[in-house]
Amino acid sequence: MQNEKIPVAVLGATGSVGQKFIELLSNHPWFEISELAASERSAGKKYKDATNWIMQTPLDNKYGNMIVNECKPNLSSKLVFSAMDAEFAGAIEEDFAKAGYIVVSNAKNHRFDKDVPLVIPEVNHEHLELIKKQKFGKGAIITNPNCSTIGLTLALKPLQDKFGLESVNVVTLQAISGGGYPGISSMDIIDNVIPFIGGEEPKMESEPLKILGTVEGNEIKNTSINISAQCNRVGVIDGHLECVQVKLKTKAGREEIIKAFEEFKSLPQELNLPYAPKKPIYYFEEDRFPQPKIQRNLEKGMAVSVGRLRECNLFDYKFVVLSHNTVRGAAGGTILIAELLKEKGFLEGIV
Ligand code: NAP
Repeated sequence: MQNEKIPVAVLGATGSVGQKFIELLSNHPWFEISELAASERSAGKKYKDATNWIMQTPLDNKYGNMIVNECKPNLSSKLVFSAMDAEFAGAIEEDFAKAGYIVVSNAKNHRFDKDVPLVIPEVNHEHLELIKKQKFGKGAIITNPNCSTIGLTLALKPLQDKFGLESVNVVTLQAISGGGYPGISSMDIIDNVIPFIGGEEPKMESEPLKILGTVEGNEIKNTSINISAQCNRVGVIDGHLECVQVKLKTKAGREEIIKAFEEFKSLPQELNLPYAPKKPIYYFEEDRFPQPKIQRNLEKGMAVSVGRLRECNLFDYKFVVLSHNTVRGAAGGTILIAELLKEKGFLEGIV
């Protein structure tokens, strides 16, 4: 039937990102959650008993009463969203893909596989073509980048397109929810900043190079930008703030840069995809913006907020970027990838 929704499963449904998937998909016009899965600790329990629900919208009984499955490729939904702990996600996602499932993942494990696209729909939707070259037959793996990489790269994309980028320095102030649930202990984060997030800096220094790269034959040729990142955990629940400095290849005025941010649009906006923000980047002139508490939910958490653009004594310009780490940086970004897969015809004959 034409109006029937596509059944989907969430792997790692009990965690911080898994819960966000359930919240965001509950009224989705195209996708309907039909199965939830997590570790064997949760499997066999009702979802409401297996998870500690921390979303702001109440848990719908429709999901609360579902029995949690193990993350094994015996599910009936052929489109699966993965929010599994990275320690286990790699092998499980591959088992699903080999069994003919389309896996759209938040985990880091396959991000640098040569035939696996690492996608921000507004930035590199054309990289999805790579999945035709994957070794999984009907199945496929598509990855969503690291949460802080997504905010940064969305803001860099219009600058790279219009002026070219030579070097980028970024210092992050990242939210607690980025570390999963229950995350860092309150004794460690209240009244404190932790100047280290394991594995985060190498991700931020490498992922944008693949995302901003070009498809050449069966793989992506990385772009060459020098990127340096320093990552800090701060006492904010949701929303990663990033202080960015950029050196451009060609000279640009402040107004031209703001125009590039404000006018940036891409295929998800043209296709009017359900989870696409109308405007991916908002520029704020107020010196006190962007702030996590105030702007993180802009356009349902899918828009990136930029502010404080000014000249820099070391680089050309500096500015501040804010993005919602579990929405744009995880579940929401992944849903947008799945919408694009559907619109580009990649789900035909599979789901
Ligand atoms: P989390 O809160 O720790 O949740 C982890 C999930 O993985 C839980 O559902 C857990 O189920 C499941 N799991 C654990 N061991 C498993 C196993 N052996 N087999 C199958 N499932 C298992 O983590 P999270 O923050 O939601 O992150 C999920 C993934 O997304 C991670 O790979 C993370 O790096 C990535 N990510 C997170 C963010 C963010 O902002 N939080 C952003 C981007 C990407 P049980 O409850 O049964 O243990």
